[in-house]
Amino acid sequence: MSSTHLMDYEPIVGHQTLEELYLLAEGLKGKRVKMVNSTAIGGGVAEILHQLVPLLDELGIQIQWEVIKGGEDFFIVTKSIHNALHGEAAPLTQRMKEIFLEVSQENIKNTDLDQDIIVIHDPQPIVFIEAKDRTHAKWVWRCHIDVSHPVEEAWNFLKGYVEQFDAALFSSPRFSKRLPIPQFLFFPSIDPLSDKNRELEPEFIDQVLDRFQLPRDKPMITQISRFDRLKDPVGVIKAYRMAKHYTDCRLVLAGGGASDDPESELVLNEVRTEAKQDPDIHIIVLPPTSSLDINALQRASTIILQKSIREGFGLTVSEALWKKKPVIGSAVGGIPAQIIPNLTGSLIYSTEGAAYQIRYLLSHPEAAKKLGEYGHEYVKEEFLITRKIRRYLLLFHILFHPGERIIPL
Ligand code: UDP
Repeated sequence: MSSTHLMDYEPIVGHQTLEELYLLAEGLKGKRVKMVNSTAIGGGVAEILHQLVPLLDELGIQIQWEVIKGGEDFFIVTKSIHNALHGEAAPLTQRMKEIFLEVSQENIKNTDLDQDIIVIHDPQPIVFIEAKDRTHAKWVWRCHIDVSHPVEEAWNFLKGYVEQFDAALFSSPRFSKRLPIPQFLFFPSIDPLSDKNRELEPEFIDQVLDRFQLPRDKPMITQISRFDRLKDPVGVIKAYRMAKHYTDCRLVLAGGGASDDPESELVLNEVRTEAKQDPDIHIIVLPPTSSLDINALQRASTIILQKSIREGFGLTVSEALWKKKPVIGSAVGGIPAQIIPNLTGSLIYSTEGAAYQIRYLLSHPEAAKKLGEYGHEYVKEEFLITRKIRRYLLLFHILFHPGERIIPL
């Protein structure tokens, strides 16, 4: 579990923000809330729960976190469902559905459901809702994945369960579905105290740059992303080249996933070919645990790019804005939620647009600085973990007052 305490956020978000959380939590003291997901470690959801659960506990919520158990066959089925929800043609046979239901029933039997609120994360434990009549709890489905283009059959199978919940939470308006239950928008968030985002000593940043053999003689344009075509690394190189005609700069493309993902190896080759031995293009393959290196690279950059073709939320944008960097991002997925054009960053629609913005920001450092500063404030307001806690507390209040137009807090 995370060893971070709410108090640790006070210097960052201010006393009033924390005070507000304590006030909102006051009326929820002693309420029993259970989070259910499918992994204790690894993956984004486990990471979120490791941060969130202790902080809700500190606020006086009686919070429990339950991880469902299953054998390999169960997780093959859930992986297949996950892929189908992402739109891949993954199988979901009658036998697979049976395994899914049997293992879920076994988990339900072994779980204490005497709760006030039960939050089910993602599809793996979704069958728990079958136990709804046996509890007095309010049930919430927290969907972390993009279900905007699912395989029809997989979504229809799941929908029967989703519709029984009291509320569903989605990460983007684009991911939500037509459902007969209330839906809430829960943006992902970043933790300003994590290794990925915390302040770093300048000497540490210098060491990281030395290790990656990155001189600091020119402005540094950086994109941190898995080597995936949807992140358009080749387009990034093209934009850099167009901009470099006018202003000298370096380009850093840093990301992981090359060793275990055959597709990313192909993309990496395409990127290397496009780079054509340009000594000012630095292609850095990162191992999976590179949070501090990513933090340092972002902090050392002059401009951060996120030139995605498709995107989920695009956490790298908030990470960079938090570090007061001017960010140029494509108007896809969750990026426009983070970049208000010409206020918290630059939104682009083409490679030429990206090149123009690089050139503009390099030649207008004052404007670039302002974007970064406003971006930082916007992330503080909307996309920090403290904001997520606030959303959960408000949601809990709403669930305890169904249909009421005014809720006393
Ligand atoms: N990231 C990482 N290693 C990499 C590339 C990215 O740890 O090689 C991090 C990045 O800092 C961010 C997350 O992984 O926190 C990527 O999230 P995002 O929403 O930007 O894109 P996704 O990879 O989920 O499509």
